[in-house]
Amino acid sequence: MNCYVMTLFPEMVEQGMRTSILGKAMEKGLLTLEAVNIRDYTKDRHKKTDDYPYGGGAGMLMQAQPVFDCYRAISEKIEKDGAAGIAGNRKPAESLVHASESGLPASNTRVIYLTPQGRLFSQKMAKELSKEENLIFLCGHYEGIDERVLEEIVTDYVSVGDYVLTGGELPAMVMVDAVARLIPGVLHNETSADCETFHNDLLEYPQYSRPEEWHGKRVPEVLLSGDHRKIAAWRLGQSERRTAANRPDLYDRYCRKQHYIRVLTEKGKAHHIDMTESLRRGRGEIVEASEAGILIKDEEAKVYMLAAFDADQAEEVVGWVPGDGSGWQFSVHQESLLAPLGQRFPVSVRLPVYHVVYTERTAVSVPKHLSFRKLGEDYLEEVMSRYHMATDKGYLEERLRGGHIYGAFADDRLTGFAGTHQEGSIGMLEVYGEYRRQGIGRALESFMINLHLSMGYMPYGAVAEGNQASLGLQGSLRMCMSKGLLYWVW
Ligand code: SAM
Repeated sequence: MNCYVMTLFPEMVEQGMRTSILGKAMEKGLLTLEAVNIRDYTKDRHKKTDDYPYGGGAGMLMQAQPVFDCYRAISEKIEKDGAAGIAGNRKPAESLVHASESGLPASNTRVIYLTPQGRLFSQKMAKELSKEENLIFLCGHYEGIDERVLEEIVTDYVSVGDYVLTGGELPAMVMVDAVARLIPGVLHNETSADCETFHNDLLEYPQYSRPEEWHGKRVPEVLLSGDHRKIAAWRLGQSERRTAANRPDLYDRYCRKQHYIRVLTEKGKAHHIDMTESLRRGRGEIVEASEAGILIKDEEAKVYMLAAFDADQAEEVVGWVPGDGSGWQFSVHQESLLAPLGQRFPVSVRLPVYHVVYTERTAVSVPKHLSFRKLGEDYLEEVMSRYHMATDKGYLEERLRGGHIYGAFADDRLTGFAGTHQEGSIGMLEVYGEYRRQGIGRALESFMINLHLSMGYMPYGAVAEGNQASLGLQGSLRMCMSKGLLYWVW
C-alpha cells in the first residue's frame, strides 16, 4: 500500500511513522509513506498557504490553490506508477468525477480529509481501507481548508474522535497505523488482528506475561493449564465481562448477535452455518431481524443472507433488503424467498447448494508427503487457467493477494489448490488432472479444515446439488450436511 500525506508539517509525519512495526513494513516494501509538503505547491511568492476567511471569524484558513496543486501532483504520480485503482471494487466517488472534469487525472484513489466533522474512524473502516492500493490523507491546520477544494478532491471525511486538535497530522498517523497493520504480512501473526479488541463487538481479554507472580499477583491458573478449550472459554468470559462493564453499547450488539446465532442454529445448524459463522467471525451485520426472519449483510463480500422463519413471512424479509441490490449476491435459505426476491431484483442465476459443516473440534490427519503453502499473486494466471469454475479474475486476484488460497505441493510441484471464499466458506478446490485419484482433494480440504479450526472457526463449505463426487468426499471427512437446499442467487 502507498500512503501519501498532504501536510504543512511533513517532518512530523515522517518522524512519527518510521519506527516500530510500520518501519519494518516499509523496509519489507509492504508499505510506502510519503509526506508531501503542501507549501511546496503554493504560487504565493512568500510561500504563504493561508488567508483570512471571507465574512470574518477567528483564525486563518488554508487556501484552495496549494492544496489542489499538491493533490494533482500526487495523483499524477499514482497515475504514472500505474497503480491507481487496482484495489477494491469501489465505485468512483462523485467528487472524483468532479475532479476529472476539472482537468485532473481520472484517479479513483480515495482522498481522506481528516476533520472533526467527519465520519468517526473505526476498526471496520480501517479494515475496509486496508484493501486499497493507494490512499491520500489531507491534513488541515488553522481553522481548516477552503471548502471549494474539499468539494473537488475529497472522497471521505473522517474524524478520529469528538475533540478538536490543532492539525490533521496526528489523526492521519492514527489512521495510517491502524490501516497498515491490517495489510497481510505486516503483523507477524496474521490471526492476531482477528481476535483483538473490537473484533466481533468484544473488547480483548486481559493478558499476562512472565513472571508467573509479580507484586504478589499470580497469573490466573487456567492460563498455565495448557488446556486450550478452557483457556478460550475463560478468555471469552473475561471479554464479555469487560465489554459489559466498559462498553455497554458494544455489549448490547454482541448479545443481539448471540441471540440470533442461537435462533438460527436451532432452526438448522448446517443449513444456516454461513449466517452464524458470518456473525461469529465478526464479518456480518444484522440489517433486520424479528420473528419473521433475519437479514445479514456482509459488506466486504457484497452478500446478503436471508432466512425466513415462515413461508408467509418471506415477502417481509425480502422487503428488508435496502437499495436496488445491484452488485450484490444473495444467499437464500428458504425456497419461499425466491419468488419475492425475483420480483424485487433483476436476478438471473440460481445455484442450489447444500452446506457441509465440520462439527468436530479435532484436527483431521493430512498426508505427510504433501506440503501446503499460500499461493501469491504470481499464481494468478495458473489458478485462473486451472480452476474449473474460474469466471472472475479480479476475485481470484483479490483472494490470492489476501493469502486465502493454498497450494498442495508434492516434491515441490503444485498438484492442486483450495481456499477460503470471501464470505468465509472453504472452496475453490481444484486438483490438477494428472494428480487426480491420489487423495489430494481430500488432503487439501483436510488442510483447510485444520486451518479454519486453528482460527477458531467452524469449517464449512457449499456443494452444488448433484455434485456426487464432492458429496462423497464431504461424507468421508465426516462433514454434516444440511437437510435441505439453499440457493445462491445473483
Ligand atoms: N474549525 C474546524 C472545525 O470546527 O471543524 C477545526 C479545525 S482544527 C483546529 C484544524 C485541523 O485539525 C482540521 O482541519 C483537521 O484536519 C484537524 N483535526 C482536528 N480535530 C480533528 C479530529 N477530531 N479528527 C480529525 N482531524 C482533526
